[in-house]
Amino acid sequence: MYALNYVKAKSVKEASELLAAHPEAKLLSGGMTLIPTLKQRLAKPSHLVDIGQLEELRGIDSKGGKLTIGAGSKHHEVASSAAVAKAIPALADLAGLIGDPQVRNMGTMGGSVANNDPAADYPAAVLGLNGTIVTNKREIAADTFFKGMFATALEDGEIILRFEFPVPKKAAYSKFHHPASGYAMAGVMVVDTGSGVRVAVTGAGPGVFRWKEAEAALGKSMKAEALEGVVLKSDDFNEDIHASRAYRENLVRVMARRAVAKLAGKKK
Ligand SMILES: Cc1cc2nc3c(=O)[nH]c(=O)nc-3n(C[C@H](O)[C@H](O)[C@H](O)COP(=O)(O)OP(=O)(O)OC[C@H]3O[C@@H](n4cnc5c(N)ncnc54)[C@H](O)[C@@H]3O)c2cc1C
Repeated sequence: MYALNYVKAKSVKEASELLAAHPEAKLLSGGMTLIPTLKQRLAKPSHLVDIGQLEELRGIDSKGGKLTIGAGSKHHEVASSAAVAKAIPALADLAGLIGDPQVRNMGTMGGSVANNDPAADYPAAVLGLNGTIVTNKREIAADTFFKGMFATALEDGEIILRFEFPVPKKAAYSKFHHPASGYAMAGVMVVDTGSGVRVAVTGAGPGVFRWKEAEAALGKSMKAEALEGVVLKSDDFNEDIHASRAYRENLVRVMARRAVAKLAGKKK
């Protein structure tokens, strides 16, 4: 068994102080990634600082063209939120596609984005929707947050408090899920911001990325046919027992076309 200390933080301030005092401590939110990681002996923190019950990290609110989601919001809360459904229905759709009911009732948006699994769904939403990650120390633009496989701009002791999204004109997400885990083999978020197009791809490469060539093509014509023959650099795409690189490249193209088709049928 592990010899570690479990502390249930009473506030973000207390959690910050605990992280500062114990450099080997780790935050625990929904535990859907961290607990299996501990079980497999892939991490050995000195302390688990539980922020999973903090009201300060909850809450979903939409006003003034901005949707704000607390980092401790569970996936099912995002999936079933009336505010999310009204402001950015694609985000509610995406949250409802994560894992299974158990995972959606425990896992949090903050935990998912901090973990930045290359096959996770939320990174595609945060990057595609041009979100801002607000931490206990600063605000980080999505374009500078994701640094590749399981890597982010978060520094030691930094806690994600909430996410802020400008409400786009329209957005749609399409995902081909792994049949066992539900994770994305390829997931594509297409966003018409009103002043441009953003396309974020998860699942296929070593981390979420913007498909700039598709953004340029869709900026001229928001039609699935506009993606025909568009360059997609796939030399670093994942190859494993589940799918070859070429298969993943094809999945990205198919998911992008499906997202554009969905988007064409939506007001938002
Ligand atoms: C069977 C299964 C299927 C899954 N399927 C999918 C899927 O289809 N799509 C998908 O996207 N994900 C999937 N997941 C992952 C799931 O969404 C997790 O909930 C998520 O990755 C982690 O969120 P959590 O709240 O459980 O974080 P935890 O496991 O508690 O923490 C994860 C990491 O984030 C850190 N952390 C947590 N909160 C914060 C914070 N506020 N600020 C800074 N750091 C923080 C922790 O220290 C830890 O390093 C699946 C998981 C399982 C077990």
